[in-house]
Parts: sequence; C-alpha cells; structure tokens
Amino acid sequence: MIEKLAETMLRFKENTAYICKNEELSFGELYNRARDFAEKLKNDDFSPVAVIGGRNADTMAAILGCVFAKRAYVPIDISLPEERKNRIISLSKAGTVIDCSKEKPAFEKTENRAQTREENKTAYIIFTSGSTGEPKGVPISYKNLDNFIEWITLLEPLDKFEHANVLNQAAFSFDLSTAAIYYALFCGHAIVQIENKNDFAGIIDTIKQNKPEVMVATPTFIKLCLLDKCFCQKDFSFIKCIYFCGETLQKSLCKAIFERFSDIRIINAYGPTEATSAVCAIEITKEMCEQEEILPVGKISSAAAEIFIENKEIVLKGKSVFAGYLGKDDDFSKGYPTGDLGCIENGRLYCFGRLDSQIKYKGYRIELLEIENNICAVKGVENCAVIAKRNEHGEVRMIKAFYSGKAEEEEIRAVLLQELPEYMIPKTIKKLENLPVSTNGKTDRKELEKL
Ligand code: AMP
Repeated sequence: MIEKLAETMLRFKENTAYICKNEELSFGELYNRARDFAEKLKNDDFSPVAVIGGRNADTMAAILGCVFAKRAYVPIDISLPEERKNRIISLSKAGTVIDCSKEKPAFEKTENRAQTREENKTAYIIFTSGSTGEPKGVPISYKNLDNFIEWITLLEPLDKFEHANVLNQAAFSFDLSTAAIYYALFCGHAIVQIENKNDFAGIIDTIKQNKPEVMVATPTFIKLCLLDKCFCQKDFSFIKCIYFCGETLQKSLCKAIFERFSDIRIINAYGPTEATSAVCAIEITKEMCEQEEILPVGKISSAAAEIFIENKEIVLKGKSVFAGYLGKDDDFSKGYPTGDLGCIENGRLYCFGRLDSQIKYKGYRIELLEIENNICAVKGVENCAVIAKRNEHGEVRMIKAFYSGKAEEEEIRAVLLQELPEYMIPKTIKKLENLPVSTNGKTDRKELEKL
C-alpha cells in the first residue's frame, strides 16, 4: 500500500492533490512535504504518532508522513478539549506528537511511548466515543486499509471519474475522511477540504469555487447544503455523485436531492470505524425511493467484508475488520458484532437502528453512556441518565441529561467542557429530586423522554 501510494503520487505529480482555503498543493508538493515529515519520524521507534491538527495541508502531509515512515497515525482534532487530547495521546501510547495547529508544525516526544521495536502493522488509530466513559481506540492495520482502498477505488460509479475534485467534509479524526482521502489519493483526484463545518456560507463558497464532482458526506451535511435554495443542478452542475456514509440516509433526503439534481448519482455506504470506514454500498435510484420502505445500505455481492446476520444483528468478518480495541483482549475471529440491527433481503443489506445506546447526532458517533459516566463522576452527583430526543423520522434532535444530587448544573457543564467534544455536551442538564424508576427497578428512560 505504501509503495503504491508513493508511486501514484509521483505519477500524478503535476496534478492538484489538496485544496483547502487558500492553500493548493500538487501531488508532487504533497509528496515532498509528506516525505519531510517521514524523514523526521524515521529515526524514532515504531510507536504511534499523534497528529493534532485542523483541516489543513500540514495535517494531511503529516498523516501521509506517518504512512511513509510506517508509523501508525492517531488523528486528533484541534477542537477537542485539552484533557481529551492528552487522554488520547496517553491511551494510544504515541511516542511522538506533531502539532499542526501552529504556523510551523511542532514535534514533541513523549515519555509514555509504546515499546515497539518490531515493524508496525497499524496504519492508524481512530478514537471513538466509548461507553465506559473513555474514548476507545480502533487500530486499523495496513491490511485492513489496503482492502478498503481496493474496494472503494473500484466502486461504481466512483471508478468512472478522472482527475476529479472530491469534497471531504469530515475532520481527519473521523473515519468518513478515510473514504475521501484514500479514494482521491489512489485515483489521482484532488481533495477539496471543507475548512470549517460551522461556517455555512464558507461551505457553499468552497463548493462553488472548487467544483467537486464527487462529494463524500453525511446526510446531515447535505441537508445543510440544501438549505441554500441555489444548491441545485443549475448552479452546481459539476456535482455528479454523492457518496453518503455514517448515518441513516432517509428517502425524503434522496427525493429532495433528485428534485434539485435530476442526473445525480447517489451512493449509500455502510460500515463502522472498526471495519475501516465502509464495507458495502449501493446506488440509490429514484425507483428505490418510491418502492422501498427503507433504503438499503449495501449490496452483499460486492462487499469488502463478509456480512451476516446473527440474532438480528449485523456481523462483519474478513480483511476490512479490525483485530480488536486498543489495549483490550478482544477476539473477533468469529466476526465483529456491530451493534446494528439489520437484515439481508434479495442480496441487499438493511440497517434498522441500534441494539445499544450509541447514537448518531449531527453525523457524530456518540455513546450516551460515555456522557452519563462523565456526569456521574462529578462530585455531588448521585444518579444520572442521558437520553436522546428524536423527531418523527427517528433522527436525534437533542441530547438531554437528568441527574440527582447536590451538584449544580454549572459545575457539571464545566467538567464536561473539559472532558468531551462540544457535540457531546447535552443541550439541557436538569436536576431532579430523584430519577424516575420503572417496575424492574431501572431508571425509567421512557418517562424521562416525556420531560
Ligand atoms: P462510525 O464508526 O462513526 O462510522 O459509525 C458507525 C455506525 O454508523 C454504524 O454502526 C451504524 O450504526 C451507522 N451507520 C453507518 N453507515 C450507515 C448507513 N449508511 N445507514 C445507517 N447507519 C449507518
């Protein structure tokens, strides 16, 4: 994979590889910058490298530098609270931290590095929300990534584009970005990076200026784009394909897209971080939006992993599936149970929702138990429950927390701001005398949903 990456980057060296705000790098320039990073990393051991960065060319080059130096990269978004950044660095046992948020990337060695003398097999470690109250590390091997790259570069209709511009909406710390980055890099396309996901006008401007033919996005992101009445084929005729992944793609959204872009091609891809971004996909047609009750999330025949259903749960096995969580003794040799409810019908995979309290909110993966555990750890909190309020389509609209005890809301909020990313902080944190209890003695979450 590493040799092929270098070879592809050099083959396309004159073409644009990366565009973000006012920065534009050719494949040759990105390659050289990545090699500079690799050079600085190569005399260390094989321990992971934490790359703290935003959405910019240095962060991209640092990540590729780790790949060239054969050291696992741990992407950490600059917007995370310091405590969480440090926790991830410590959990990953990164031996080097590259801070790309500065004008000139800063290198720092750490004390708590993994003792890895033998050659490293992990390409990256992405941290997701963990139900125990701590972020959990998902190591993805070169073998996993290689398999994913082969799958995505051959996926129809993505395989039809040449020197296209590919929009990457996600931060490098989310595995959706893996799809955009590696698809683009291995096909000689340019990555168009959204710089700030909260700047609506900036997003539309970036799209208008850089004319991506392919957009890699969550449904939440495209819904945002559709708020602009001009976001339609007439003004954005260059958009030919949207690759969706990461959360439920509603029929209503596809219909709205087809109304604005009659010739567009829509792909719905499915997979968790644990199975390298996505394991299957299917093109969504106008007919499907009329005929299907819910939209399928993939075709079994062209999947990147073995997919089967066990007790109504989607289980994944094969080359794209990780070996186990960082620091845990997992055994997923019989398959990784995703926690997603699903079924297979006529060779298509359908996904209905979760078996646990993991949610998707604004496209982010969140364990409600992680929030709950963090609130319970605040001094003066006796009991706590965190719930997700959904709309009539089942989409999460708000996270709410309820607790009992002496602590004040402000104290809890202050602690959460230090520990959790902003999107995980509940909109309301309400004190109750006692949390309602159901007949089986557990906290009555249904009752809380009415409050
Ligand atoms: P992440 O690890 O952030 O990619 O999140 C993985 C989870 O997102 C899966 O286990 C599913 O619950 C959900 N997910 C991913 N893709 C889809 C999709 N196309 N439709 C419905 N849910 C999805």
